[in-house]
Amino acid sequence: MSIPPTISQYWQHQGMSRRDFLQFCAMTAAAMALPITMVSRIAAALENQPRPATIWLNFQDCTGCTESMMRADAPSLERLLFDLISLDYHHTLQAAAGESAELARTQAMVANEGNYLLIVEGSIPTDQAGYATTAGVSNQDLFIEAAENAKAIIAIGTCASYGGIARAYPNPTGAKSVGELLTNNKPLINIPGCPPLPVAITGVIVHFLTFGEWPLLDNLQRPLAFFGRTVHDRCSRRAFYEKGLFASRFDDPGAKTGWCLYQLGCKGPFTYNACATTKWNDGVSFPMEAGHGCLGCSQPYFWDNDSFYRPLS
Ligand code: SF4
Ligand code: SF4
Repeated sequence: MSIPPTISQYWQHQGMSRRDFLQFCAMTAAAMALPITMVSRIAAALENQPRPATIWLNFQDCTGCTESMMRADAPSLERLLFDLISLDYHHTLQAAAGESAELARTQAMVANEGNYLLIVEGSIPTDQAGYATTAGVSNQDLFIEAAENAKAIIAIGTCASYGGIARAYPNPTGAKSVGELLTNNKPLINIPGCPPLPVAITGVIVHFLTFGEWPLLDNLQRPLAFFGRTVHDRCSRRAFYEKGLFASRFDDPGAKTGWCLYQLGCKGPFTYNACATTKWNDGVSFPMEAGHGCLGCSQPYFWDNDSFYRPLS
């Protein structure tokens, strides 16, 4: 059996230079708020380990999380996510279908028993098994089977982390989050967001490969490096909030000048996420910079938390 290349060997084969590799390690350390001394440790981990076998299951979701990660078009932390892992099964991206796809999944789970990463996108219906099935297997059974021998589990997006839109009142399918259905003690991390920040996913996987554990988490199992502060804390409109300068319409002169969008329903003050610092689309912008308030998408049950356009107070 041939020895799989390490992550750095794989990237080298893909055309990545040594300089870009070290830059990736430095950017990841910075994104994870790790000291600069950890860059060499990250580099050593990626130089010595193969890409982790990964099973990616899509349940009740819009596949927006996957779409978001595929849209990155520059050599960034986002783009490298799919190069960092060995994607053995992905409902949305795989070319295989039917029995051959399911065979690939079970073979990958057996070959990597106890060592594969399980990534879940979407909530899991629990009211009736027939609400959502893959190859005749209910989402719930599929999840429990895959979680049994996973090394660690990542719930990607707000649906997998908290139930998302499928769980919004009246929750007709009995949608539940990954954490609610996990019956073993496998390490679980939530990366909520609608969609989640791709850099947060890349960052926590690199951390797990380097240190063998998830980074520090908050009480909702979210990595503190990305969810330790509110969007409001780092918002470019914050100075206007402090001065009491609030836009009253999305197209008024104040909004265009950069005044705060609080009166237009912005949920930034109670939303924990790193959008204002990492930004979106390879660092181009984030919602408040583009002129719209935060919807609170990385907080539990945000679909049921009143109107997106009603002020918090
Ligand atoms: S626009 Fe929202 S996040 Fe930005 S300062 Fe105003 S309330 Fe805070
Ligand atoms: S700004 Fe708010 S609603 Fe928009 S992606 Fe970030 S956390 Fe979600």
